[in-house]
Amino acid sequence: MDKIIKSISKNGHFRAFVLDATETVRTAQERHQTWPTSTVALGRTLIAAQILGANEKGDEKITVKVLGDGALGAIVAVADSHGNVKGYVQNKDLDYKKASTGEVLVAPFVGNGFLVVIKDMGLKQPYSGKVDLITGEIGEDLAWYFLSSEQTPASVGLNVLLNENEDTVKVAGGFMLQALPDATEEEISLMEQNIKAMPSISTMLEDENALDVMLQSIYAGMDFTKLSETGLAFECDCSKDRFRNGIKSLGNQTITEIIEEDHGAEVVCQFCGRKYEFSESELNDLILN
Ligand code: ZN
Repeated sequence: MDKIIKSISKNGHFRAFVLDATETVRTAQERHQTWPTSTVALGRTLIAAQILGANEKGDEKITVKVLGDGALGAIVAVADSHGNVKGYVQNKDLDYKKASTGEVLVAPFVGNGFLVVIKDMGLKQPYSGKVDLITGEIGEDLAWYFLSSEQTPASVGLNVLLNENEDTVKVAGGFMLQALPDATEEEISLMEQNIKAMPSISTMLEDENALDVMLQSIYAGMDFTKLSETGLAFECDCSKDRFRNGIKSLGNQTITEIIEEDHGAEVVCQFCGRKYEFSESELNDLILN
């Protein structure tokens, strides 16, 4: 099962999140039937949203939008603080790999643009932060967001590895390491060395104790404590009722036209690909009410 572990160094100078999001990204790929470049870009965005969601408390919702001018179009993910995430990529069928290595290319198809983070706390005005995409690889862009928007130096790694022949998801996950205000220059450079020396995230994710291996690599030479462990999942909160209200808001005239032309309606949730059917009589009820 997917999960995220939150941790802090014993001296309180660093904190780190490590995530196994394999099932999350696998489910997203299956629901949206994405092709490799689209799968990896969407997967990284979903993991980024899970990291930001885990950073929140209560019923806050976090939306991450990767708005580049590349062929992928917009990538959107919404996470809550309980580990649930949903999301989509505008262009599902991009498939570009390096011929020599088979590595899936992402940044050139994200392009130039912005990373937008919206925090919705329910009653209050949503907070919104926006930074330029610096590489389009999404991990570095999230690290840049932490630094420029939240003034927290961070290192972020996001990884989605596909099975070679089927282009399905083999492993997916990542980490986020933040330096807290008391961190010294020496400690920061030790951590930077650790991140550089770390095996690739996908290699670590293939280990049975993936998240422990990841924590040990991040904190090599420094003691740490695990704070919490939370399950993660691709989970959409859509429902037929929600779409019923959406159709209702189109107004009587439009609904009548739909009934006359199509004798029913099929609505597809953009975030999870689930389909909802409305029969002619269900549509009629929406007019009467
Ligand atoms: Zn949905």
